[in-house]
Amino acid sequence: MSKAEDKENLSAGAVKESPAPRAKRRRHRPLKVANQLPQKRRKEIEKALGSKVPSPKKWSREIGSKTHLFNRKRIKPGAIRKTEYNLLDVEIGDEWPIPVTIIHGSRPGPIITILGAIHGNELVGPLALTYLCGPNFIGEGKDIDPSTLAGTIRIIPIVNLPGYRRQSRKFPDGRDLNRCFPGNSESNTTSRVANRLWKSIIETSDHIIDLHTAAPGRTNMPQIRANLAHPDSNKIARSFGIETILDNVGPKGSLRRTANKSGIGCITYEGGGSNEADPESVQVAIYGILNVLRSLRMIPGYPNRPYFRILASGSVWIRSDQGGLLDVLAPAGSFVEEDEVVATITDPERPGVSHDVHSPNRGLLICTATHPFVTAGTPIGHLLPMKRGIKTLQNRLDDEGCLIISGSDGEPPWREDDEVEDISIEGEWLGGSPDAEWGNIEHISLEEESE
Ligand SMILES: [Zn+2]
Repeated sequence: MSKAEDKENLSAGAVKESPAPRAKRRRHRPLKVANQLPQKRRKEIEKALGSKVPSPKKWSREIGSKTHLFNRKRIKPGAIRKTEYNLLDVEIGDEWPIPVTIIHGSRPGPIITILGAIHGNELVGPLALTYLCGPNFIGEGKDIDPSTLAGTIRIIPIVNLPGYRRQSRKFPDGRDLNRCFPGNSESNTTSRVANRLWKSIIETSDHIIDLHTAAPGRTNMPQIRANLAHPDSNKIARSFGIETILDNVGPKGSLRRTANKSGIGCITYEGGGSNEADPESVQVAIYGILNVLRSLRMIPGYPNRPYFRILASGSVWIRSDQGGLLDVLAPAGSFVEEDEVVATITDPERPGVSHDVHSPNRGLLICTATHPFVTAGTPIGHLLPMKRGIKTLQNRLDDEGCLIISGSDGEPPWREDDEVEDISIEGEWLGGSPDAEWGNIEHISLEEESE
């Protein structure tokens, strides 16, 4: 199927024929908590899901839709506005204006903000959001039709514009914006930008989707990261409609962690690597965003759901025990058996000699190294070890043994949430967060964790 046809499929929404009565049934069904999650975590999640989600503060479906105020501009109900937002508040010098598309629905509803390239070299987000802002998806009769939209969608394809122009993860002052929230208006440059974004864009949102890729030197299988004990984040993480959710609070100062602290639902999507346009990750991102919009009942149609969901609270690392040049045999997304050879290492100084790297567990490889230079101890794969749900997962592997991500192979069938098999993975994140063990690698210019 061509990319254009795929997009057609996405926008056509094959789920339209879904029987209406089923929608009624699912309305008040409580969210499930996978029964094999570690008991402590399960209790935390259950407690959070049991607590009442506070009623939306800024809108009510009973009253009519009002004008949306953004950046001193008034946007009428049913209108699309393309505008610019200045990252810095200055009278002289560069203000770093970034493009923002606002679709303000004619019906009342929540405000969702969708962001790309908080890290300037992560281009899957900008690509997906540029498509999403285009005529394939927005307009009369399209997926996002302002005349039927309930609520407001704000799309910002590139947040870190100066980093994007320099093809760099960071801001020009060398700081990582995704470690600076909520920021400070009197502190350093990146912190000022974070604070402006925080006050005018983040705090005024009900839900946030933040799009990322792996940092240089590695690549991610499409996955969601969310704090499942945060009720709204739990809901939008599941409604994204893909298989893998890593349950964690996010790094300190990250948009996700800080937004959650303020009660705002926020999830991170990760797919592909930096400085690349991974078409599958772009497609899955668009698919997931539309699913979230459908789940929130902002746009018509029923959300698609995956065959199963892996809820992971930990992982294991595959490391090289030798130094040399790496050849990865099992790419990100592969299901691997215990002891399977996932990579080989050769040494240019000793041609003819090679070393096999074996997987310590059976499981799903969610991220693999792409940089060939390794020393003993270098992480080369990030694995979700699996004890349960093996058959379910194996049914969704392609000829190469890679998971076919929901949304990457056209429109899958619509199904009830309780038809989705939850597969939980116990454990912990070494170093405290999913990417911590990738660490600082000197040859990739001090780039650090991913998200
Ligand atoms: Zn990132």
